[in-house]
Amino acid sequence: MNEMKRADVLLMVVLVLLAGFFILRNVMSSQETAQIIEIRQGNEEPTYVSLHEDAIIDLSRDGKINVIQIIDGSVHMIEANCRDHLCVKKGHITKVGDSIVCLPHRLAISILGEEEGEIDVLSQ
Ligand SMILES: [Zn+2]
Repeated sequence: MNEMKRADVLLMVVLVLLAGFFILRNVMSSQETAQIIEIRQGNEEPTYVSLHEDAIIDLSRDGKINVIQIIDGSVHMIEANCRDHLCVKKGHITKVGDSIVCLPHRLAISILGEEEGEIDVLSQ
């Protein structure tokens, strides 16, 4: 009986900790300024995708391979066939203003913040 109670208490503690963790995570992410990824390819109009929805985006064209992955609020180039591979070596970017550039393929991925968020950061 005692063992059961101990298990129950342990389960409760774990649940409370988990709930706290998720609430904290939500609060933290709502305060983040990094929200949107801007993708520029050549001279085209940039496209925008959310930084908070995990995705794999294939930007390959004309035999130029570039695949980016968005995961846990970060972006990285998972595949490219450019000659320098600097974009792949750049690794994960997470902060507003960070960017991954693939010069040979004229591709640039930048993280943008929401305007309100940026003002908040400046006034702190
Ligand atoms: Zn590259």
